[in-house]
Amino acid sequence: MTNKKKIAVIAGDGIGPEVVAEAIKVIRKSEELFGYQFELEHGLFGGIAIDERGTPLPDDTLAMCQSADAVLLGAVGGPKWDNNPKELRPETGLLGIRKALGLFSNIRPAVVFDCLIDASTIKREVLQGTDLIVVRELTGGIYFGEKFRREGANGQEAVDTCVYSVMEVERIVRQAFEIALKRGKKLASVDKANVLETSRLWRETVNRIAADYPGVELEHVLVDNCAMQLLRRPTSFDVIVTENMFGDILSDEAAMLTGSIGMLSSASLGEGSLGLYEPVHGSAPDIASKGIANPIATILSVALMFRLSFGWEDAAAAIEKAVKNVLDAGHRTGDIATENETAIGTSAMGDLIVAAMTK
Ligand code: NAD
Repeated sequence: MTNKKKIAVIAGDGIGPEVVAEAIKVIRKSEELFGYQFELEHGLFGGIAIDERGTPLPDDTLAMCQSADAVLLGAVGGPKWDNNPKELRPETGLLGIRKALGLFSNIRPAVVFDCLIDASTIKREVLQGTDLIVVRELTGGIYFGEKFRREGANGQEAVDTCVYSVMEVERIVRQAFEIALKRGKKLASVDKANVLETSRLWRETVNRIAADYPGVELEHVLVDNCAMQLLRRPTSFDVIVTENMFGDILSDEAAMLTGSIGMLSSASLGEGSLGLYEPVHGSAPDIASKGIANPIATILSVALMFRLSFGWEDAAAAIEKAVKNVLDAGHRTGDIATENETAIGTSAMGDLIVAAMTK
């Protein structure tokens, strides 16, 4: 396997360029420590691309992403473009890039750092040790099914259709089993098989694929129960896999366990190893250009990239350990600082994490 990778970097809008700059420092430090080599290519995307090129996703940016081994994205959007027509909105670019790269799963870790545990609204004893991943199907289900209005016996009706094929379920479930195999070897498949036909197909498919993964402990959890158990026993989950709408809701719920949006990383994956890595947060226009954004979500997205797209566990673990050590030493950006703590800026936090990285 080559130790050289091409990363397409699309910083985007608002705090995007600020947090991506810190992630790049971490990428460069990984080169130095582990001997990996990275070619970084930069492209315009989102609001800035609308301003400079008249489209949120210029062809050359897309081509750059398609030919890369992974994509690092900051964030897009902002009030300047909020009232634009659909084709000139930054989010349209996001949907376009996901589709063009064939990304069908969204992966969101929710890790509770001991030293930040009091930032969460949940009790310390329930949260301590929480380290889970939600794997959400991204391109099927009710969000993409046929939608229409019609006249019914009681007046106007609206219809949203939920469709899943065996192929769509199978590919994401396999991905989730593979991720579980590399972690705690536990998979919770979430559905509503007591009422939904798509969920029954989902469960049948999960059970069939489970035979290929005897080393992974599988549980089926109904979505309403999962919403409760995430708050009651979050530490008992390792990997959760679910369909699009359930995953949309559960991944936000799981995110809130950790307390701060500035800490949450994510990956979107397709069939091969190419993935798109980005913080969960948006472009935070309220704090843009102030140098105070928390870069940790983006930095942890780089760790995810190294692990999931490149299989470079050493560098991924080094980044995660450095983040933990810096937080344990008491360093905080404004979003995670308590009243008695002095907040540091975006680039100071990036520098501390780089300095804490060791082989
Ligand atoms: P947001 O995530 O940008 O901000 C929500 C709140 O969290 C704000 O108070 C912000 O200051 C704070 N925050 C977010 N990230 C932070 C960080 N790293 N450090 C410190 N504080 C942070 O969500 P929003 O305000 O609803 O959306 C702003 C813009 O971002 C909108 O245009 C929206 O469409 C876009 N957006 C983009 C993405 C994406 O690029 N994937 C995702 C969500 C929202």
